[in-house]
Amino acid sequence: MKNAVPLPAFQDNYIWSWFDGEAAVVVDPGDADVVTAWLEGNGYPLRDILLTHWHPDHTGGVDALRNRYGARVVGPLAEQARLPALDLAVSDGDRVRSGGEDFSVMAIPGHTLGHIAYVGADCVFCGDTLFHTGCGRLFEGEPAQMYDSLARLMALDANTTVYCTHEYTLANLAFARSVEPDDDRLRQVEADAKQRRAENQPTLPTTIGEQKDFNPFLRTDEAALAEAVSGAVGHTVAPGVDTFAALRALKDRS
Ligand code: ZN
Ligand code: FE
Repeated sequence: MKNAVPLPAFQDNYIWSWFDGEAAVVVDPGDADVVTAWLEGNGYPLRDILLTHWHPDHTGGVDALRNRYGARVVGPLAEQARLPALDLAVSDGDRVRSGGEDFSVMAIPGHTLGHIAYVGADCVFCGDTLFHTGCGRLFEGEPAQMYDSLARLMALDANTTVYCTHEYTLANLAFARSVEPDDDRLRQVEADAKQRRAENQPTLPTTIGEQKDFNPFLRTDEAALAEAVSGAVGHTVAPGVDTFAALRALKDRS
């Protein structure tokens, strides 16, 4: 399933959606109206709503969509108390059959403590954990948790398509380039991303392989990046989770 479409919502959210030939699936519908417009415009019924975490920009449309279409709502058991009512509450390692595909649930805490990803069909729906050239803010978790969650995502096949939930790419690239101004790969990626945005195209999805190549939040084990981050923060940080924590804190202040 490499053909999910991004339904833009709010300032910079994407509600990734697909039609399996019989019915549609939507992931993290923060806004019901954009989903309804897409469904009605195409004549699709809605079968499933998959949720990655409890934040309202990912869940605000759930009740309206369920009431209108009777869709099944799947989400993280660990965040059940903060979510709209779930029909299927899932945890790490659980399997979910949805939209003609088999997904496994992966716990990826950090942005929120119960955040999950859906992994299947050579894709990952990773919510607000991994972004193009960035990662999610640590609203609830510790740096080490997010570092481990990103490592779990990095262990997926390099060809895995990554469906991130926000169009943060240009801001993330500006930050990454401020840390590594001489990196030619980032320069090229930024030029491509700027062109896409100028044409009003999404910069997503991306792949695990691409992100491992240039996303600094996935490269914090590299000595050269640790050195660059050390320079930016004004004290020495060791490669690994220390560099990750310093880089994330630097981004929070940027
Ligand atoms: Zn969020
Ligand atoms: Fe979000």
